[in-house]
Amino acid sequence: HAKESGGNRHQLFSEQMNARAVERMTVESELRAAIAAGQLELHYQPQLCLEDGRLAGMEALVRWRHPRLGLLAPGRFVPLAEDCGLIWELGLAVLELALAQLAAWDRAGLEVPRIAVNVSPAQLRPELVERIVEILDRHGVAARRLEIELTESALTADGPAANGLLQALRRMGASIAIDDFGVGYSSLTLLRRLPISALKIDRSFVAELATNRQDAAIVEAILRMAHSVGLRTVAEGVEHAEQQAALGELGCQEVQGYLCARPLEAKAASAWLAGQHAGGLVPSAAAA
Ligand code: C2E
Ligand code: MG
Ligand code: MG
Ligand code: MG
Repeated sequence: HAKESGGNRHQLFSEQMNARAVERMTVESELRAAIAAGQLELHYQPQLCLEDGRLAGMEALVRWRHPRLGLLAPGRFVPLAEDCGLIWELGLAVLELALAQLAAWDRAGLEVPRIAVNVSPAQLRPELVERIVEILDRHGVAARRLEIELTESALTADGPAANGLLQALRRMGASIAIDDFGVGYSSLTLLRRLPISALKIDRSFVAELATNRQDAAIVEAILRMAHSVGLRTVAEGVEHAEQQAALGELGCQEVQGYLCARPLEAKAASAWLAGQHAGGLVPSAAAA
C-alpha cells in the first residue's frame, strides 16, 4: 500500500510540475513574442537635484503593455525573464528604448542630463559593453549621460567578473549606481571594491525618515559615508515634503519619488519636461 500511494503521490506531483512547466513555457514564449512585437515600453521618473531643484536625470522603468492583461509592472515579468534567460533580450530592448527616447528629447530641445537604466545580474556579460557602445553611437548619445543601476545582489553574486565589466563601463564613460542601497549585505565591501559613482538609498529608509529617529540616523550615516568616499547620493521613494526637507538638511544630493512625479509614459514625460522647461525650476524641490 505504502508503495502504491507513494507512486500515486509521485504521479500527482509530476502532473503539477508539468502544468507549471507548461504555464511557464506559455508565458515565456508570450514574453519573447512581446519583446519582438514592441509591447515593452518605458515609463520615466524624474530625479531632481535638491540644491537647486533642477532635473538631474530620468530613470527608465519597464512595463509590458499586454494585449489582454493591460499594463504589467516589472515585478510581474522581469523575474521570469531572469529565470528563463530572456533578460538579455529584454535588457537590450530597454537600452534601445531609453537611448532612443533621450535622443528624441535632445531633438525636441528638452534638457535631460542623464538617463538611468536598471540592469539585472544576468545581463552582466562581457558583450554588454560593446552592445551599449553600439546603441549609444547609433543614437548619438554620449556615454557619460548613461547611468546603469545595479542592486547589491547583482554585485555580490559574481564578484570579480562583474568588477571587470563595471570597470569597462566606467572607462567608456557611463556611471554606475547601486540601487536599493542598504537592504542587501556587504554594502561597505562593495563600495571599496567596485567602481561605483552613486548610491540610491532604498525607499524603506526614506519612508519613516521624518518620524523615526533610527531611520534618520541610518540615512545620515549612509550619506556621510557616501560623500566621504566621493559618491553621489540619490534618495528613492520620496513621497512627502517633510521627507524631502529632511533629506535636504542631511545633505542628500538628489531625490526621486511620487512627490515630484510618478513614473510617466513617454508622452506625459515629454509634457512634464516641457512644463519644467517653461517654468524653470521644479517648485517643490526648490522650496525644500
Ligand atoms: P527600482 O529600480 O528600485 O525602481 C523604483 C520603483 O519604485 C519603481 O517601481 C517605481 O515606480 C517605484 N517608486 C518610485 N517612486 C516611488 C514612491 O515615491 N513611492 C513608492 N512606493 N514607490 C515609488 P517599478 O516601476 O514597479 O519597478 C520595480 C523594480 O523593477 C525596479 O525597482 C527595478 O528593480 C525593476 N525594473 C524596472 N525596470 C527594469 C528594467 O528595465 N530592467 C530590469 N532588469 N529591472 C527593472
Ligand atoms: Mg532603479
Ligand atoms: Mg531602487
Ligand atoms: Mg527600490
